[in-house]
Amino acid sequence: MDALEQANKVFLQNFPAETWFERAILFSWYCKIRNCKFCYMSTQPDKTAVRSKESLIAEAIICKNLGWEIGAFSGGIDAYSQANFKEIIKNVSKVCGKLWLNVGALGEKEIKEYLPYTKGVVASIEAINPKLHDFVCPSKPAAPYENMLDIAGKYNLKKAMTMILGLGETIEDFELLKDFIEKHKIDKIYFYSLNPQKGTIFESREMPSAEYQAEWIARTRIAFPKIEILAGIWLNKVDRVPLLLKAGANSISKFPALKAFGSKEAKAIEQSAKEAGRKFKGSLTKLPKINWKDEVEKLELDEILKEKVNKKLNSYLSMLTHT
Ligand code: SF4
Repeated sequence: MDALEQANKVFLQNFPAETWFERAILFSWYCKIRNCKFCYMSTQPDKTAVRSKESLIAEAIICKNLGWEIGAFSGGIDAYSQANFKEIIKNVSKVCGKLWLNVGALGEKEIKEYLPYTKGVVASIEAINPKLHDFVCPSKPAAPYENMLDIAGKYNLKKAMTMILGLGETIEDFELLKDFIEKHKIDKIYFYSLNPQKGTIFESREMPSAEYQAEWIARTRIAFPKIEILAGIWLNKVDRVPLLLKAGANSISKFPALKAFGSKEAKAIEQSAKEAGRKFKGSLTKLPKINWKDEVEKLELDEILKEKVNKKLNSYLSMLTHT
C-alpha cells in the first residue's frame, strides 16, 4: 500500500491527473518467427494475412476522433515488403501523425527509410530475465532489439519496450528491468499480463494478479518518475484499472475498444478513471457528432483510395453504433 501511495504521488508530481486509452493498430496476423511460446501467432499456420490499406486508415480516423492514442503500429515480423510498409505508414501518419513502430528489430537502413513517419520504436523484449527470454522467445534474441534502441537514439527517436508479466519472471527481476531502462534510456514501457492462449504451453496458466501487475508498475513509476507507462488489460480484467492507475500507469491498452465500444466494460473504464482521480481523455462510449466523410476528404489520398476508406469507415461506424 505504501508503494502504491508513493507511486501515485510521484505520478501526480510529474503528470496531469489524466488518463486515456491507447490502441495498437494491428496490420497483420502473420509472423515469420511464430515460435514465441506464449504467442497466439505461434498457434497459426504459416501464411500471410495482412489488412487492407483502407481498413488501417479508417481505423486510424476512428482512433483520432475518439481521442484514442495509437500506442503502436504493430504486426508480425516481415508481413510486408519494406516499400509497401513505408507506403502504409505514410498514409496512416497523414491521419494521426508520426507512429510508434512495433515491427521487430529494425536495422539502420529501415529506421532511416521510415524516419519521416516514425515517432519511436518499440522493442518487444517481453521477458527481461535472459534465461526466461531465451526459453519463451527462442528465435527472437534481445540483442538486435538493443541494437535498434541504440540506432533509434542516434536519430532522436523515442524508445519503448514491452514486458509480459506472468511468463515465469519474479519481482526480483525488477533490478534487471531497471538496468535495461537506464542503459537504453527507455521513454515508454508497456506492461502486459499473460493472456493464456489455447495451444501454447501457457494454456492452463493463470493470468497474474492485478496486485502483481500493479507492483511492477509502481516500482517502475517510483524509480523512473517521468517514464510513460501503459498498462495492458483485457475485456475481463477491467476491474483492475483503478489499481493500475493508482500504481502510476499513464494509460490503458489491450482493451478491445472497437468490439466493446459503449459496453458495460467500456463504461467501467471511464468510471474507473474517476475513481482513481483521473480525467479520462477521449471516449470509449460515445461517438462524436462530426461529418466523417470530411475527415476522409481532407486527407491527401487518391480518390479511389478515399472511396475505399469511406466504405470501410462506414462499416466500422455501423459496428460502433450497434454495440
Ligand atoms: S515475434 Fe512477436 S508475433 Fe512473432 S511469435 Fe514472437 S511474439 Fe508472436
